Amino acid sequence: MTLDLYALPVTHVSGVKGKKAEELLALGISSVGQLLDYYPFRYEDYTLRDLTQAKDGDRITVQGTIAGVPQVQMYGRTKSRMLLKIVVDNLFVTAVWFNRHFLKDKLTAGTDIILTGKWDQKRLHLTVSESEFPGARTSQTGTLQPVYSVSGSMTQKWLRQVMKQAVLQFGEMIPEVLPALLLRKYDMLPRKQAIVLLHLPGNMEQGQRARKRMVYEELFLFQLKMQAYRALNHSRADGVAHPLDLPGVRAFVRSLPFTLTESQKNVLAEILQDLQQPHSMNRLLQGDVGAGKTVVAAAALFAVVKAGYQGALMVPTEILAEQHKRSLDRLFEPYGIQTALLTGSLTDRQRRDLLASLQMGMIDVVVGTHALIQEDVFFRRLGLVVTDEQHRFGVQQRSILRHKGMNPDIMTMTATPIPRTLAITAFGDMDVSTLRELPKGRKPIKTYAVTHSMMERVMGFIGREVAEGRQAYVICPLIEESEKLDVQNAIDVHAQLQHAFPQYKVGLLHGRMTPAEKDDTMREFSEGRVHVLVSTTVIEVGVDVPNATLMIIYDADRFGLSQLHQLRGRVGRGEHQSYCVLIADPKNEVGKERLKAMTDTNDGFEIARRDLELRGPGDFFGTKQSGLPEFRLADMVTDFETMEQARDDAAELVRRSDFWTEAAFDSLREYLRREHILSGDLLD
Ligand code: ADP
Ligand code: MG
Repeated sequence: MTLDLYALPVTHVSGVKGKKAEELLALGISSVGQLLDYYPFRYEDYTLRDLTQAKDGDRITVQGTIAGVPQVQMYGRTKSRMLLKIVVDNLFVTAVWFNRHFLKDKLTAGTDIILTGKWDQKRLHLTVSESEFPGARTSQTGTLQPVYSVSGSMTQKWLRQVMKQAVLQFGEMIPEVLPALLLRKYDMLPRKQAIVLLHLPGNMEQGQRARKRMVYEELFLFQLKMQAYRALNHSRADGVAHPLDLPGVRAFVRSLPFTLTESQKNVLAEILQDLQQPHSMNRLLQGDVGAGKTVVAAAALFAVVKAGYQGALMVPTEILAEQHKRSLDRLFEPYGIQTALLTGSLTDRQRRDLLASLQMGMIDVVVGTHALIQEDVFFRRLGLVVTDEQHRFGVQQRSILRHKGMNPDIMTMTATPIPRTLAITAFGDMDVSTLRELPKGRKPIKTYAVTHSMMERVMGFIGREVAEGRQAYVICPLIEESEKLDVQNAIDVHAQLQHAFPQYKVGLLHGRMTPAEKDDTMREFSEGRVHVLVSTTVIEVGVDVPNATLMIIYDADRFGLSQLHQLRGRVGRGEHQSYCVLIADPKNEVGKERLKAMTDTNDGFEIARRDLELRGPGDFFGTKQSGLPEFRLADMVTDFETMEQARDDAAELVRRSDFWTEAAFDSLREYLRREHILSGDLLD
């Protein structure tokens, strides 16, 4: 029986008690195991260096001989600056101490001294942060010292000491978690050795090797959860095995006003295949804006309805719900499929009636906002939920459905392509289908970045496009955090444009309008009765009006890159050449990068990659519902290759039948149980 270090109070490490133990607790450390898991975020290198090789600004440790008398300048009673000449590697150097004048008496000429500090090559100054005499009992010289994040009255020095003590007392007892086959595969350090070296590395190489092992472990365990979840889901037979009428689906596809792209065909085949399986589908459909995700969803919904089930399409806004309902009606009408719209603007009575029809199975496909699958909504035989332009369908929503006795197939469509880096992290538990091409005949959108001084030409541009029968969007200036001012802006711009173009109809869309008003405007725009649509960002997602060819965005430098790409994606949806004009303040340096990316490329995957680079993973999905895990050591961007390896290894492992039974994998299965994957809790 091994000792569980996580059950052992941290006070078992000698030297940890009282106030110090409390301060560790504030860092989330209450057990020995947690202490050992508190890794340094970098190392300080006290290896002796040759000063003549050092570069300006380096933090270095050098040894020299004192060649003068300390010169002290006092500022007030405690603040001081002390200068001292030192000969280092045949150079005359000035060592500078701040507020350390009390050292003065120890600094006698002719004595050797070791100094650590920042090197100013121009002035031959070394600003000293630490110093010691050669041979000192607690010498750090020649070592690598870990740097931890500390708080309260805790010092770096104290924590280093405690960590060293913990390693001495308990290092031998750190259990292995990775199976031997993986340790062998990558020639990795055993866990106990890696942890010891992370805290007490002999040199950088050892520190790196230890880090590498622990990064792998962290990513592997994360991926194991994902892959085990996926494998278990696939092996469960508690979903709907849709008895599909494949010839019927083929006929539906043939009846579409266009032929599907190869990508759409492949993706649809993957989905149909999944729908027939007895486990419940958990699939992500991604593709660039305009790649044609909606029609793929429509075909899947059609297939499910023909198999005798109901479908639901969940979208983030009422405008979109309304639009999707219209396009589905157009496609489904010849087949007598009943659709309905469930949004917040129904009257109580309408809502009651609708819910009753849903429950009785008189409605085949319901389109609506998030509330669709919640609360008092019951289906007779729900077979497929599609969510559009929305964050992932969460475990929680799945469990709401389960509690109602439903376990439908789930398909999530993303608003923007997701860089591969993030996809295998955030969506590792899902099967992914990707639309890789746009429908044929689309002309790439031409994008221009201009300044406010060119407004007149921009107006001329709007006039010409509308005169040719096209339509234009104008997205209004963005005032951070102030919906009220955004609305005012939209109202002003609308008035200006209507004044400039009295012969055309200029529409207005903003967040303060009622859903019915918004729908009216949208309908007029999509039917071509409104020529120019002025809008705040409520327009952003999913709107599809192929005749619109011009997208003007005010204050483009204030929008995020993915959002700009989404907005641009509202045009370029038909046969006509389309344009995107980004009006921006040339002085905004941050915005410049984004504008450059926009004018450089139309490729959503490339845009996503750059967006990730500019914003970092946390912000990519927006902070709130990122769905991204937080790693202790790993960085999901720079450690991406390791993440991929870990994913492949985890996937391979859970496919082995002995993984679920053999003693060699006990600790991993135990881990899955602790994480509520194995018992199935996640799905219940
Ligand atoms: P997104 O992937 O951005 O949601 P949509 O589904 O809105 O894209 O499709 C964009 C436009 O392309 C729509 O007008 C749609 O009818 C059209 N479309 C979809 N597939 C094809 C195709 N295979 N050929 C031609 N047009 C298509
Ligand atoms: Mg769409």
